[in-house]
Amino acid sequence: MEEEKSKDNAKNDLQSITEQQACFDKNWILQLNKQEDIQDFICLICKQVTNNPMEIDCSRHKNMDESLIVGENCLNQFLSQNPNSCPVEPHENCSYSQSRLAKRYVNELDVICPRQFEQEQEQQLQMSTQQGHEEGETPGIVTCDFKGKVKQVNDHLEHSCCLQMAKCWFESFGCNHTCLKSAIYDHLTSNMKLHFDLVIKSLDTLQQIIRQYKEEISKLNLENETLKVQLQLRGKKDEEISHLKQQLDQYQKDNLQLNSAQKTTFVEMEKLKKDIESKDSEIQKIKQEIQLKQKQIIQQQNFEQINENKEEQKQN
Ligand SMILES: [Zn+2]
Ligand SMILES: [Zn+2]
Ligand SMILES: [Zn+2]
Ligand SMILES: [Zn+2]
Repeated sequence: MEEEKSKDNAKNDLQSITEQQACFDKNWILQLNKQEDIQDFICLICKQVTNNPMEIDCSRHKNMDESLIVGENCLNQFLSQNPNSCPVEPHENCSYSQSRLAKRYVNELDVICPRQFEQEQEQQLQMSTQQGHEEGETPGIVTCDFKGKVKQVNDHLEHSCCLQMAKCWFESFGCNHTCLKSAIYDHLTSNMKLHFDLVIKSLDTLQQIIRQYKEEISKLNLENETLKVQLQLRGKKDEEISHLKQQLDQYQKDNLQLNSAQKTTFVEMEKLKKDIESKDSEIQKIKQEIQLKQKQIIQQQNFEQINENKEEQKQN
């Protein structure tokens, strides 16, 4: 477990040097350099050796004797936290520029492999906690004997360091093993069964997932069919509704026509009633006339009879 931890640290270390551009650990640089070699290149902010040195050249610090140098990363962090200030003393409009000379000087400093440095520090820490531990290198621990210039470190860490870490090739199948790049083949050959089982397991999981998807698809298909049928039914109902609406319209029209027909019939009936009434009175009149005529006729007949009788009497 201890070993795993130290390897994780080595990974972080690689990131901090190549990506974060933080200043360099003074103790690491001092492995192959003297204090007086680096004292003019110490970062004002973090007190380590400057990475990408920037020179503070505000006019108000002109009389200061010491070199005013900060690492670019430290300066950016400082200015983002203290806008309109200066790392030397608080004032506005801090003036600074890249110090190419300092950068070249720092780049040319001799150093050992930073991973090796970190490993040695951890070993020393372990030794100090385990008093009486036998001297010398612990057997089985790989050491990197790189010695070069600061500017060569990144290339070394990425391409030729034997302390470079590697992840197991079967990481995506669930093996979280990390080890030295040089030891990865040992891990692969001695864990073939484990890796094979991991692959089989993930295949099983995949098949299960596929089965679940298939089930979901058939469920969705079924739902789709039901929806289609419902849609068709709705279409039919819509048709029926529009048919019923048409019928209702027709009924309403018919009703209107009937109403007006009824009105005309009523008017006609009234007319007929009046006609009948007038005819009735005419009939009454005619009746009266007939009666009158009949009376006259009867009177006439009576009169004639009387006359006849009179003549008969005369003749007799
Ligand atoms: Zn710094
Ligand atoms: Zn200043
Ligand atoms: Zn190395
Ligand atoms: Zn593995």
